[in-house]
Amino acid sequence: MTTPLTETQVQELRTQLEARKEQLLQELDEVQVAHRERMKAANSAPQDAYATQANQVAQDAVRDAEARRDHDELVAVRAALERVQDGSYGACQECGADIGLARLQAFPAALRCITCQTQLEQR
Ligand SMILES: [Zn+2]
Repeated sequence: MTTPLTETQVQELRTQLEARKEQLLQELDEVQVAHRERMKAANSAPQDAYATQANQVAQDAVRDAEARRDHDELVAVRAALERVQDGSYGACQECGADIGLARLQAFPAALRCITCQTQLEQR
């Protein structure tokens, strides 16, 4: 059994979420800046630079995947912060049970209790 979070615990987790949000925003910002600069460089690059371009494409794919992950996490972090605001933070989105402090400390943006999360992943 888990107990509801105290106000202090919610505030601590909120601080973690805020810090994570800032970090993700910064990472996504860097990806965009890097992308813009590459577009500029690509436009002025000589046509025969195939090897460089292929390498670049592979790097872009990795970066895009990372950016998507960051973006997904950012969405989850924002949703968690909204739930801190409306007082529903810490309750499972599916069943309403308390998610539990240990799980929230590991994943402050968790939307579901471990039971519901496990079921979701098995579907
Ligand atoms: Zn649940």
